[in-house]
Amino acid sequence: MTNTTHTLRTQDLGVRFGAFQAVADVNLSLEPGARQALIGPNGAGKTTLINLLTGVLKPTSGSIHMGGTDITRLPGDKRARMGLARTFQINTLFPSLTPLLSVVLAISEREGLGATWWRPLKGCTAVFDEAHALLRTLKLDGLADVPVAELAYGKQRLLEIALALAAKPRILLLDEPAAGVPQDESGELFEAIAALPADISVLFIEHDMKLVFRFARRISVLVGGRILTEGMPSDIGADPRVREVYLGS
Ligand code: ADP
Repeated sequence: MTNTTHTLRTQDLGVRFGAFQAVADVNLSLEPGARQALIGPNGAGKTTLINLLTGVLKPTSGSIHMGGTDITRLPGDKRARMGLARTFQINTLFPSLTPLLSVVLAISEREGLGATWWRPLKGCTAVFDEAHALLRTLKLDGLADVPVAELAYGKQRLLEIALALAAKPRILLLDEPAAGVPQDESGELFEAIAALPADISVLFIEHDMKLVFRFARRISVLVGGRILTEGMPSDIGADPRVREVYLGS
């Protein structure tokens, strides 16, 4: 039997800004454990689609289901509590904090501990233990106490993923996780994404086709707000329509 509780699915999803239809009739499905890329030319509607999935934008047509639940009208914070997490193209970290404290704060927020985490609370050790484990998952444990500002940019982007993981998501939406990361660090970043726990489904936007074809197990191609095609990397790479509209050859 298929486990539908981990999936995200849209049906005929669309949004219009005035007369401009930015996303139209999108039927996208994210399977459990997915490592799925969302690609398409600039202005195709990729970020808009992520904003619809996370509840930042309200669709003007269609629906979104998470597992068996219709989340189309749920606000973003409720979706986050149900296990939907995202990162952004821009760096959202506090430069003077350490990775360890950044993750501790994110876990504390999830647990509703507010700013009380530093008190000698019963749960304090558990929070630090969990933070160390999370940093280990992303191979950041050796940098736990280095101020964020001193980390290589690729490590900072990994830390953002760690912060998203602190919410214990089942679905992780990554909007250009390697944006601004030097090429020699981006492979390592995507290796960490590929190695995330198998019970987390990942949808990522990425422009670098080498990274997409190396790390995605499925690719959805968005053009003009619509899904042009979807499939395994081998099929997408060979699709002449994709080459024409996106790869430019
Ligand atoms: P991508 O992420 O694929 O580059 P976007 O989702 O950022 O594309 O944008 C898709 C299109 O929707 C663009 O033409 C953009 O200008 C337009 N758009 C995005 N957000 C808004 C908005 N809030 N109001 C009007 N137009 C928007």
